[in-house]
Amino acid sequence: MSSTSSSIPRSQAALQKAFQAALAREMAQAQAQQLPLDAQAVLRAAALACRDVLAARWAQVQMADAARRLGQGVRRVHYLSMEFLMGRALHNALSALGLRDCLEQALAPLGLALGDVLEREPDAALGNGGLGRLAACFLDSFAELGLPSFGYGLRYEYGMFAQGIADGRQIERPDDWMRAGNPWEVVRPELRYLVRFGGRVVVEGGQRRWVGGEEVEALAFDFIVPAHHSARVSTLRQWQARSVNPIAFDAFCRGEHAQANQHRVAAEALNWVLYPDDSTEAGQMLRLKQEALLVSASLQDLIARHLREAGGLQGLGRANAIHLNDTHPALAPAELMRLLLDEHGLGWEEAWNLTRQAVSYTNHTLMPEALETWPLRMFEALLPRHLEIIYEINHRFLEGVRRQHPGDDALLRRVSLIDEGPGDFHSRGGERRVRMAALAVVASHRVNGVAQLHSDLCVQTIFADYARLFPDRFHNVTNGVTPRRWLAQANPALSSLLDETLGEGWRTDLSELKKLAKKAGQLKLQKAFQQVKRANKEKLAARIRMETGLVVSPDSLFDVQIKRIHEYKRQLLNILHVIARYQAIVANPAAAPDGMPWVPRTVVIAGKAASAYQMAKLIIQLAHDVGRVVNSDPRVGDKLKLVFLPNYGVSLAETIIPAADLSEQISTAGTEASGTGNMKFAMNGALTIGTWDGANIEMAEHMGVDEMFVFGLRTEGVAKIKALGYDPRLYIEESRALKAVMDAIGDGSFSGGDANRYRALLDNLQQRDGYLLMADFADYCATQARVDELFRDPAGWSQRAIKNVAGMGWFSSDRTIAEYVERVWSVESLG
Ligand SMILES: *Cc1c(COP(=O)(O)O)cnc(C)c1O
Repeated sequence: MSSTSSSIPRSQAALQKAFQAALAREMAQAQAQQLPLDAQAVLRAAALACRDVLAARWAQVQMADAARRLGQGVRRVHYLSMEFLMGRALHNALSALGLRDCLEQALAPLGLALGDVLEREPDAALGNGGLGRLAACFLDSFAELGLPSFGYGLRYEYGMFAQGIADGRQIERPDDWMRAGNPWEVVRPELRYLVRFGGRVVVEGGQRRWVGGEEVEALAFDFIVPAHHSARVSTLRQWQARSVNPIAFDAFCRGEHAQANQHRVAAEALNWVLYPDDSTEAGQMLRLKQEALLVSASLQDLIARHLREAGGLQGLGRANAIHLNDTHPALAPAELMRLLLDEHGLGWEEAWNLTRQAVSYTNHTLMPEALETWPLRMFEALLPRHLEIIYEINHRFLEGVRRQHPGDDALLRRVSLIDEGPGDFHSRGGERRVRMAALAVVASHRVNGVAQLHSDLCVQTIFADYARLFPDRFHNVTNGVTPRRWLAQANPALSSLLDETLGEGWRTDLSELKKLAKKAGQLKLQKAFQQVKRANKEKLAARIRMETGLVVSPDSLFDVQIKRIHEYKRQLLNILHVIARYQAIVANPAAAPDGMPWVPRTVVIAGKAASAYQMAKLIIQLAHDVGRVVNSDPRVGDKLKLVFLPNYGVSLAETIIPAADLSEQISTAGTEASGTGNMKFAMNGALTIGTWDGANIEMAEHMGVDEMFVFGLRTEGVAKIKALGYDPRLYIEESRALKAVMDAIGDGSFSGGDANRYRALLDNLQQRDGYLLMADFADYCATQARVDELFRDPAGWSQRAIKNVAGMGWFSSDRTIAEYVERVWSVESLG
């Protein structure tokens, strides 16, 4: 690996020279070994050359931040997240550094196209979905806004999993994304911290100490994220667990090689994959260990840095923000307390004040089953000292509540950090558990939801008791996405059109997009917009053909739903509509029910199902079964196609989103905390068909409510219908179309006569239908008919699409981060 150059190029010309020199040096490595200078070799060389430049900037930024903090009391943000869905890095780095043309010129003599090199890069898919991608967008905005910060995560060697499809069913493979090495990462061998699991607590001279058990070493790997309009960078520091002991030599000499290595494998298993299937006890243990590893290494790193900069622990809470991205790192307050009390000798009050000042927490879901809790038994076995500290936090907290609300034992039970088991609605399997969300709320000075509706519901439902106890603690910060990746890079054609129409100001201030609104009626702009969309659709059609063999028409309406497969997101509702449309086309190929010719549609679905989530996997299979029948029916032709694109991830999203006409955001109202996919689509000129849920609501408000296709029950409607005793069968009996759809799935029409394949799925829809698909089906189909109607009018459609883009300026993650700084991370927010 190359050494890092120490001088920082000041001008663009000097930067280019430094890059070219590094590139030549790295390519010489390949040439010297007589390896072909192919796309793979160039990818590696270019990444290393960019990394050199970025590492030089990184050092500069750290020095500047340290000086700034001492001078002005600026806080440094530490963003703890189990997931960072970064995607590819080279295109982003080249754009940020202005080196795209430079590399393109270097490639010309080799006969290589830049696009082929960029396509070679594997995605860093160290995340599951929106929460992880949000963290990645935030790192981009940290750099762009020049915020002193560290993102902290784990270095998963095999990501989550790579999705394959065999016989219409999802199969999971390890995502071996670092097979060819990872040229981006900067290893920091000097940064190693010990992390303990198991053992026991002893008292030594009045001090409680955690001893014994096993220790692993956490080693830091940095990934550097560039700003696009300055020389700032931000950092993603990822931990790799290593055994502290080398191989057991005696076992090795006895020829017991596996034995000699066992403890090393156990340590490294911590870094294999994100979210090991936690349907087993061993999986749950591994997951809790991963969370502890992330939290402990990150906080030790923070404290060491603070001590270097400030010379003592004083001011730690005011100088450092520690942000919990959902409850996965919610162990952080307990670990910080442990470090301050046991390792640094602070008293409880002082330690607790520093902790409360530093910690803040974002909630990402209202679903009770998704709120993390851990069995006390497991905590006791792995993290005995943390459990003691959590008990003490709980004791002091409940004392305060009791003073405020004497005699209200029910309240105490509801807000306790410990779920006492049977009889409690939070409990699972009847055993006592630690409620991680409760710990995060009690230990934070700020708690926020991720869209206005979600933040309101947090306060009204899951956190209602806490909100009454701590009325000033709860806030909203609506999510955003980085326009660098999701507009400038993903959609260069639309970006050029925006440059021509508005000037380049939108690139640094996305709110400039609103100037488009009054131009949306211009014919010339509409035509140009249509050309851009058409070219993007042709690219996607080629990709679909390559991946699946299916030929789709770029003239058809591209109707897209890409996101994790989950019942609440209602991919199934989408598929039911496809079946209804299919049946209507077969019944009358000449005309839609409104008498007009059918609007040809290509429905695109992509997404992964969690490996233990059987219902989600069944939905993927149904999509394939329905696709097979519909796509091969000669009566249908181009009028309808259903495509499932495998292995959804950031790069696939970057190809699909710019080509979408229609964005499906159809979660049951009150279930999607925010969504960010919804924002990426609208920013790229897709119209949204969506429920009144998550950030859809704020998007509609920013673009004008009539510019979105809104349908379905709202949150209050959902609550009402459930309170009255929801019976999905009533809706099925009422609608001939819906009944025909259900019957066709049930009689094996899509499963080669196998009437049992979808039994579980149909039973669920008929008997429970917890996400109200049956109730929303009719309105959804009627709204899809309105979509067709508008699509028949290309001018009307493009005008609306342009207005959608115009309304999206507020949804930049730069705006989101500015709000976090103001409401959550500022010194002022500490009160
Ligand atoms: C944006 C994004 C998500 C989040 O999508 P939602 O529709 O908001 O659930 C998930 N995965 C990837 C790869 C993304 O880019």
